[in-house]
Amino acid sequence: MSEVRLRFAPSPTGYLHVGGARTALFNWLLARKENGKFILRIEDTDVARSTQESVDAILEGMRWLGLDWDEGPFYQSERFPLYKEFAARLLAEGKAYRCYCSAEELEAKREQALKEGGKPKYDGTCRGLTGEIPGKPYVVRFKAPHEGVTSFDDLVKGTISFANSELDDLIIQRSDGTPTYNFTVVIDDATMGVTTVIRGDDHVNNTPRQILLYQALGSPVPKFAHVPMILGADKTRLSKRHGATSVMAYRDMGFLPEAMVNYLVRLGWSHGDEEIFSLRELIDKFTIEAVGRSAGVFNPDKLLWLNAHYIKTGDPQRLAALLLPFLQERGVDVGQGPELADVVRTLQERARTMLEMADGALFYYRRAFDYDPQAAEKFLKPEVVPLFEAVRERLGRLDPFSGEGVEAAFKEICAEQGIKMGQLGPPVRVALCGGTTSPSIFEVIAVLGREDALQRIARALAFIKAHS
Ligand code: GLU
Repeated sequence: MSEVRLRFAPSPTGYLHVGGARTALFNWLLARKENGKFILRIEDTDVARSTQESVDAILEGMRWLGLDWDEGPFYQSERFPLYKEFAARLLAEGKAYRCYCSAEELEAKREQALKEGGKPKYDGTCRGLTGEIPGKPYVVRFKAPHEGVTSFDDLVKGTISFANSELDDLIIQRSDGTPTYNFTVVIDDATMGVTTVIRGDDHVNNTPRQILLYQALGSPVPKFAHVPMILGADKTRLSKRHGATSVMAYRDMGFLPEAMVNYLVRLGWSHGDEEIFSLRELIDKFTIEAVGRSAGVFNPDKLLWLNAHYIKTGDPQRLAALLLPFLQERGVDVGQGPELADVVRTLQERARTMLEMADGALFYYRRAFDYDPQAAEKFLKPEVVPLFEAVRERLGRLDPFSGEGVEAAFKEICAEQGIKMGQLGPPVRVALCGGTTSPSIFEVIAVLGREDALQRIARALAFIKAHS
């Protein structure tokens, strides 16, 4: 069997949108599943709207998601000579023609057609021309068949048919010699040997035009899979009104790429009731036929749920590396304090995003924090002084200094003092962390280490003294 070749062909006019990322992901998954190739092509023929910044943003987004490509990135802007060559070939073969109608003439005809209630189609004035009119500007039009039907078996939507009479004699080359969109896509997919095109269903209407071009070129027509749009909760097309739509904005909000990948793939594809898929499982289980026909609705809560899952089960060392920039952004020097991976271990159970984790990690590295005023008023009172003294004394001689060791010591203190853990834990927590929420206090103490924990207790004792 010949190799499957898939591609992602973004137009670099903005960031990598979640919809685009999902399209890229579907293509990538199929390429990996079939041991084929995944090609990246930048469709930058619209020079006015394409920017290098956007190309960089798209590449960054793909790298972040782990969607590596085997060929490219190819830039359409570097392939203009090729498109010209193919336009010339179609002209020479009589499959395209020069159209000399001026923009004004075309506009007048368009208005006339609209007035008569018809479809504003090119009327074919130049379709029969063969020779050239020297010095007169022209566009090159594709001589499309006007009879018959063009249909294709869409892998997602089933059979789709268009009457050729509905299709226009498409301009393939503008009067300035530049190629048009539908033409470049076909030349590229044909010359790059693309076997399956997975793209957004906003391109369904382009497909019959493109198929006719493949046929004219004598190139095999690829398979097509048009995936439905992503919608917001109100069932309108997902846009900024619904929240962030840029993939990288999700990274900045503390989402993990595996959560994003898992979320995006499920937005349109399913495999029984399963929700959680590793990349390996996705490669094994993904099929384009299992992509649904109806549009997926973007659900931020579900993304958050998946993210929490991947944080909870993630490798602490890796999470530490991902957490670092968030802490640096907050001015934290992680060199001054506990090992970041140890900190992560205490936080990954509860943090839903890396942002939440960063906020939760701050107290470990900020010794001169302010106590939460309400917590301080409630818990840092003279009656806890003997408890703190006991904790100080125990921690001072605890060996080994571990979470279990701390827990056992705290139990002993409670027994000695005739109190419950609920009376000891909260004040110690305020002393160590500044507030009433934190991971297990035993773990926190173990991670802080003896010296740091004792200093924090001493600081709280000084605070109590100063305020009583
Ligand atoms: N450049 C097109 C877009 O960003 C994609 C074209 C295609 O996939 O055929 O919508």
